[in-house]
Amino acid sequence: MRVFTAALATETNTFSPIFVDRRGFEDSLYAPPGQHPETPTLCTAPVTVGRRVCREKGWTLIEGTAAWADPAGLVSRATYEGLRDEILGQLEAALPVDAVVLGLHGAMVAAGYDDPEGDLLTRIREIVGPGVLVCAELDPHSHLTAKRVAAADFFTVFKEFPHTDFVDRAEDLWRIAVDALEGRVRPVMSVFDCRMIDVFPTSREPMRGFVDRMLAIERDDPLVLSLSAIHGFMAGDVPEMGTKMIAVTDGAPEHGAALARRLGMELYDNRGRHVMPILDETEAVARAMAAPAGRPVVIADVWDNPGGGTAGDATVLLGELMARGAEGVAVGTIWDPMAVRLCFVAGEGATIPLRFGAKSAPFTGAPIDATVEVLRLAAGAEMRFGESLVPFGDSARVRLEGTDIEVILNSVRAQSFDPSLFDALGIDPLEKKILVIKSTNHFYAAFAPIASEVIYCSAGRPYPNDPARTPYRKVRRDIWPIPADPFGDPERGEE
Ligand SMILES: [Zn+2]
Repeated sequence: MRVFTAALATETNTFSPIFVDRRGFEDSLYAPPGQHPETPTLCTAPVTVGRRVCREKGWTLIEGTAAWADPAGLVSRATYEGLRDEILGQLEAALPVDAVVLGLHGAMVAAGYDDPEGDLLTRIREIVGPGVLVCAELDPHSHLTAKRVAAADFFTVFKEFPHTDFVDRAEDLWRIAVDALEGRVRPVMSVFDCRMIDVFPTSREPMRGFVDRMLAIERDDPLVLSLSAIHGFMAGDVPEMGTKMIAVTDGAPEHGAALARRLGMELYDNRGRHVMPILDETEAVARAMAAPAGRPVVIADVWDNPGGGTAGDATVLLGELMARGAEGVAVGTIWDPMAVRLCFVAGEGATIPLRFGAKSAPFTGAPIDATVEVLRLAAGAEMRFGESLVPFGDSARVRLEGTDIEVILNSVRAQSFDPSLFDALGIDPLEKKILVIKSTNHFYAAFAPIASEVIYCSAGRPYPNDPARTPYRKVRRDIWPIPADPFGDPERGEE
């Protein structure tokens, strides 16, 4: 067997001012054929798992380019078309192949392309023809367009949010592909449109139980090869944005459709109940300040999450902490490359006037004007994230004069995955009373064990987090919460 693999992935917040060109990929991951490292990034596990599978099978794996850009705004047309044509050219040179196994994300939007992955998959299908297996792994924060479903044989999708299972789902992808290539199964995909958009953390109910049920059905139902919930990505203003349910069966599309519908209606029935309780900045700060002494309270600024494509420079929470005179505070991080540069020029120990934060977009608060003491500088700072290291760039730890508030300013946008981001600037996070971080849910596994309490906080509007009010131009209007019940009781669910 000859199998072609490649990866092209990013998550596009179409409301973000941080546009992406080729350098956006080169800064995160750009691996020409054969150059992908041994360890996978979020969307490139099909490449690394594929190496092992093909080695064990004695098959030929032809690697194309693998590229990933950290979530941000619109991808430039030339960048998308350039990477796409690079991969298509590699595929044409690799022909004939028996299968194409891809790592995608599924929420890319490029200038002139609302559905780049649909475009890529369709062109791949045109090159390889109808008889060749085409499959991909997706992030659930993606847009499952009809074009993609038509072009691919099947998808597997991370089930967990946080995405702790991206390698497991790449294993599923390859296992089903191998079984299909060796003639044991015939994967077909059935899709149910849940007509909604929501946020679905799987570390809590009702999604925890939902994911466990999907895994149990995959294990127990011999016709089911894979089940996935596409959560959807509400910051992508594209026509087919929304929550979908996928059932991949062994040649049983009607069974798959019924199952996808049943599970999809479960998600629909729980609409609005999936997301964690979220406080505003006033409530969050009051609650954190009232907490008894002991381990720190962690306040997550959930919507200013660079992992969702925002700049990560909002100051709304910091402004509230300053106004309330909060003590023992460390903020990690606020993105401001210019302020970092000024701190580096001033040097450790200097006291300088500094304006920082809230420069990227409206609704992120006001820039902070303060006299700050530069306590620590770190070139090329990194934090842990599970097994990997995440760079957050040259960084400066400053104390706001006349307060007990310290802020880490960084120069490479990164969400706050792990308390080691504080250690990197000489802060012992356990010595602080309040830790403010920028992350929606990926922080939870590492921060919860050191926290007396985790507070999810919605501060300002750096991210379009209320679909009923977001000024979409392209998103369909027939999904909850835009209307309250798009299925319309009592005929709910009738197409
Ligand atoms: Zn995601």
